[in-house]
Amino acid sequence: ENSSNSKIKQLYEQTAKLYHHILVNTKLGEEALEYLHQRGMTDEIINDFNLGFAPGVDILETFYKEQDIYDYQILRKSGIFIERQEGKLVERFNERVIYPIRDESGKTIAFSGRLLKNDPQAPKYLNSPETPIFNKRKVLFNLDRAKGQIRRNKEVFLFEGFMDVISASVAGVENGVASMGTSLTDEQVYSLSRISNRMVVCYDGDTPGQNATKRALEIVEPTGNFTIEVIDIPEKLDPDEYIRKYGAVSFKSVVDNQRLSPIEFYLKYFENGRNMDNESEQAEYIDDILNELAKVKDSVQRELFVNRISDRFNLDKRGLEQKLVTLTNKVT
Ligand code: ATP
Ligand code: MN
Ligand code: MN
Ligand code: MN
Repeated sequence: ENSSNSKIKQLYEQTAKLYHHILVNTKLGEEALEYLHQRGMTDEIINDFNLGFAPGVDILETFYKEQDIYDYQILRKSGIFIERQEGKLVERFNERVIYPIRDESGKTIAFSGRLLKNDPQAPKYLNSPETPIFNKRKVLFNLDRAKGQIRRNKEVFLFEGFMDVISASVAGVENGVASMGTSLTDEQVYSLSRISNRMVVCYDGDTPGQNATKRALEIVEPTGNFTIEVIDIPEKLDPDEYIRKYGAVSFKSVVDNQRLSPIEFYLKYFENGRNMDNESEQAEYIDDILNELAKVKDSVQRELFVNRISDRFNLDKRGLEQKLVTLTNKVT
């Protein structure tokens, strides 16, 4: 690996250390530490994930000079700064809780920073930009820590947010990862396919979360590399909120016992925004379901769902089957 990249990594390592120190040991970090404690994060978790705080005062350049790692070109490329006029560098992260993003080998390669208080004027999470060492399409948060557990459990949990990954891990679901605030990419799915062939999509229970679940299914299913299950978190909560409200035991029971197959997910999903008492909307719903069912190869599953639709809408089974065959020929 080239020396510029390893210098950027060293910069991240040192900066993460400093941000962590500020969070846990200094007055500057008090409010952020309080915030994390309020959110149920223990000191142990804060240490394990090396969480930190970027204060609202400039500290980094002085620190790097003290550490003898100040190198303007490296700082410029690192993404830890924003470049202003005449090459002036200003710190990108201000008054944000810092979540270090690590690569598969555990090296910190980026930061995500969260505001302490939601502010409509500013993004809740701010990430490092793409750099020579950070390609956000490839990275999965927590993959370095989760990998062993993914192999042992023979499945991987997919979450939307960092807090979901962290809270789930504390609740005993340690085989979880999250994509970087974007929808799941082919590259991420590919890297997971090398260590597992079962995926549990455990996104937020709200509408954006359900839409993201559909998008994830559309990316993962065609690879044919995974058996996929979906968790529908009750009350439109996200996993972290659910754990805070109902506790680890209840969360474990939801993720162990309330798994949906993709088709079961779609049975619910396609009802969204539809008046199911209206016949033409029913017909659209049935079309949507049959389109998904056409992708299912297992004939028993297909028959079971055809039966369900036929019973529910009082429709002739043979008609549904015929339509399904037509759609299947289109899909394959
Ligand atoms: P929190 O619990 O801290 O409020 P969350 O994870 O529940 O955060 P969501 O709004 O559900 O936040 O968003 C899911 C994920 O999307 C976040 O964890 C983050 O990675 C990403 N994200 C959210 N808002 C932004 C944003 N404004 N810019 C970039 N990424 C974002
Ligand atoms: Mn969300
Ligand atoms: Mn969320
Ligand atoms: Mn949340």
